[in-house]
Amino acid sequence: MSREQLVVERARRAFQTGMSKPLKFRVHQLKNLHRFITERRKDIADAVKKDLNKTEHSTELFETLGLEGEIDVAVERLAEWAAPRPVEKSLLTILDEVYIQPEPLGVVLIIGAWNYPWAVTLQPLVAAIAAGNAAVVKPSEVSSHSAKVMEELLPLYLDKELYPVVCGGVSETQELLRQRFDHIFYTGNSTVGKLVMEAAARHLTPVTLELGGKSPCYIDKDVDLRVACRRITWGKFVNCGQTCIAPDYILCEPSIQNRVVEGIRQTLLEFYGPDPKSSPDYGRIINQRHFNHVMALLDGYTAALGGQSDSSQRYIAPTVVKDVPPHARLMQEEIFGPLLPIVTVSDIDDAIHFISEREKPLAIYVFSSNKKVIKRMLAETTSGGVTVNDVMMHYTLNSLPFGGVGQSGTGRYHGKHTFDQLSHHRACLVKSLGMEEVNMVWYPPQNHQKARR
Ligand code: NAD
Repeated sequence: MSREQLVVERARRAFQTGMSKPLKFRVHQLKNLHRFITERRKDIADAVKKDLNKTEHSTELFETLGLEGEIDVAVERLAEWAAPRPVEKSLLTILDEVYIQPEPLGVVLIIGAWNYPWAVTLQPLVAAIAAGNAAVVKPSEVSSHSAKVMEELLPLYLDKELYPVVCGGVSETQELLRQRFDHIFYTGNSTVGKLVMEAAARHLTPVTLELGGKSPCYIDKDVDLRVACRRITWGKFVNCGQTCIAPDYILCEPSIQNRVVEGIRQTLLEFYGPDPKSSPDYGRIINQRHFNHVMALLDGYTAALGGQSDSSQRYIAPTVVKDVPPHARLMQEEIFGPLLPIVTVSDIDDAIHFISEREKPLAIYVFSSNKKVIKRMLAETTSGGVTVNDVMMHYTLNSLPFGGVGQSGTGRYHGKHTFDQLSHHRACLVKSLGMEEVNMVWYPPQNHQKARR
């Protein structure tokens, strides 16, 4: 029996004892998870610094703050979320109790990605615990320092049998995927997403796939470009462009392209100074393989801004490329690095057409002061989520479901949405043994008289 098989079996046995179900137990574990984050803040920040060169402040802002928020809302609302949800009745069931009962699914597999190694791995865990499940946590091996801290320290705070951490790479993940789970929650690229779905299909296991893609950012000519460029520059270059909902490329009319470049140039100076390489706030590419991949995307282009790199530090300067043809390689795949192509479009119709003939993105951004433009963009495109006149902000609210559509993913999470995603919604109807005459309508022999009674 493999190590992974053993871990999953143990988690299932622990789940079957029923220990994860009482709300008191769930709240206790959630509070322990909160304590882990508070007490181990330094270990977490050091690991993320080593993995991605993020500052302590950035780790707090982008990893732990959101996690703590998720835990707080789960603890506060758990009783309400887990309670039976009464539903409308028909005439025939008017005397019955009819409700939806959220129930734990069983053993959940959580496969995390490396770009926000704590947020994307532990946020689903919060809901798995809140929903009363057991969960096997598989952090990304790519963010190896974070994975190690998670493997060593998390078991000191959470029940070891119910919520084990399994580290490893492709072969370990594949061995996990051969096991039977009750739900798989995967965050990462869509190629592996397909493998996860295939493996899940063998056991008819439902999946949540939090994937990526190319999220467009349309800048209308009727806009305050200084504000728009500042917001876009932040969202694109934070974490060195390695953010699933970063604006992947800009669409704008040729008449404003140079002003957009200038706006980004000024903002970069404001954020990172004249040399982003020496700025403590500018990140690094996660590893050499990803560095080579991102640099290869730039082959053959002259950068309008940036373009410098240093492979020894896995540094790529914030880079903007103008007049990128729609069929260029830069426009074929998610960039996931600090390269920002600008594609020019003739007008809003052209922009909508450009977006709509491509895969449904994880996010769309539109910057405009014109209400009609905003309305059209919202009505005539689709995406996992959308933020108008800013980037990524829809992610920050746990009242909004976060997730993709089509190739950018399936399923949703954050707050109650994750709780619901990792619960079975059991349809319950509780009747008394009285009022048999109401039931007569169902029984043979059938005739019209009886049905009308
Ligand atoms: P990654 O390389 O860390 O892979 C993700 C997980 O898949 C890891 O745990 C890894 O062990 C596992 N894995 C990798 N190859 C595998 C294989 N062949 N078989 C089985 N398991 C395998 O992360 P990544 O894919 O490089 O992550 C970046 C992608 O994730 C981007 O596309 C990004 O947009 C997306 N992402 C999406 C979200 C979201 O919430 N929608 C969040 C973060 C990242």
